[in-house]
Amino acid sequence: MVAVLRPPTIPITEIEQSAFCRTDDDLSARSLEDEFDAGVRWQKLPLGYMRMKPDELDDRIAKARARLGDRVVILGHHYQRDEVIKYADFRGDSYKLSQLAASQESAESIIFCGVHFMAETADILSSPDQKVILPNLTAGCSMSDMARIDDVLDCWDDLQDVLGDESVVVPITYMNSTAAIKAMCGRNGGIVCTSSNAAATFEWALARGEKILFLPDQHLGRNTALKFGIELDKMIVWNPFKPLGGNTEQQVRDAKMVLWKGHCSVHTRFTVEQIAQAREKFPDVHVVVHPECTMEAVQAADSNGSTEYIRALVSDAPAGSVIAVGTEISMVNRLAAENPDKKVFCLDSVVCPCSTMYRIHPAYLSWVLDGLNEGVVVNQISVEDEIAEQARIALDRMLAVA
Ligand code: SF4
Repeated sequence: MVAVLRPPTIPITEIEQSAFCRTDDDLSARSLEDEFDAGVRWQKLPLGYMRMKPDELDDRIAKARARLGDRVVILGHHYQRDEVIKYADFRGDSYKLSQLAASQESAESIIFCGVHFMAETADILSSPDQKVILPNLTAGCSMSDMARIDDVLDCWDDLQDVLGDESVVVPITYMNSTAAIKAMCGRNGGIVCTSSNAAATFEWALARGEKILFLPDQHLGRNTALKFGIELDKMIVWNPFKPLGGNTEQQVRDAKMVLWKGHCSVHTRFTVEQIAQAREKFPDVHVVVHPECTMEAVQAADSNGSTEYIRALVSDAPAGSVIAVGTEISMVNRLAAENPDKKVFCLDSVVCPCSTMYRIHPAYLSWVLDGLNEGVVVNQISVEDEIAEQARIALDRMLAVA
């Protein structure tokens, strides 16, 4: 049995939500101590790391990384800051990174520059002797925190009570959920999905059951269900704070989709009004948004897809294209810099990074790399064996389907 290292859930406060928002695209690097001055409650590090200037950290990370060679692999999600993603051996969305985590057999350690559920998934998919490290243990995901396993199990029991054991509800959980929820799906004939493969997993689920319980992002669930022709009046939202999720028994029986009441605080900022403004300013603009955005924003956009889809759309667009993007700002800024022959901009003029992805400051990366060079593994993410086995069933179904 492996001990579970469960990080403290540090909710995003209003202060943190707005602390790193800018109106001038300037997300320049600062020392970790300076960032703590905004009033955030991240994992504390020895003072030397807290005070190190961005240049010193850059130099220190480069040297530590070189000393470790191929004993370590660094995976970086597209939403990471530039000062961190530059050290990633591989970049991707959560689907691509989960595949990569499963294929890095020679590395002793996998440093996951992303958020907690991604590191858990990497631990489940990597080999047992590999160590997965999350540089800052408080880097969670506010959407994932909206679905707690106890509430999900209560919901599952309620659905069985109303629909009877014979009725087939197939649970699908978005990658952005805890290992315990992925395990619940694994045990109950369900599957994991990402924004890259949500449609394929819906097809899989609808071939096996009459209804889908979709966790935890109601928007991805609704947007995908609409693509399958499921009408809005066949979808109910499950509020875990209300009896029967806030629904009547009849509504539960009539529903085809049960959507958990969760959302992404980054993607729900994008609005139909912002899209209209972009079109007014640039009549030829192509608007692309992430499917975690609201149904209204997705329907007003020209296209929608995962971060990998958005990245490919921008890089494949002809020179001179104007593209407005509705996703996390670190990624949009990077796409703009990498495509100087096109005009790429964020739909929202107030520039806010994902607060929890932003918690991976370079000081944390430096600290974990120095630890490995000294033979010390810090911030290892280990999923309990039984949970890992059951979650792996749901993840393997996803990898097979997609
Ligand atoms: S962008 Fe949204 S879903 Fe993704 S990690 Fe941040 S809060 Fe979670």
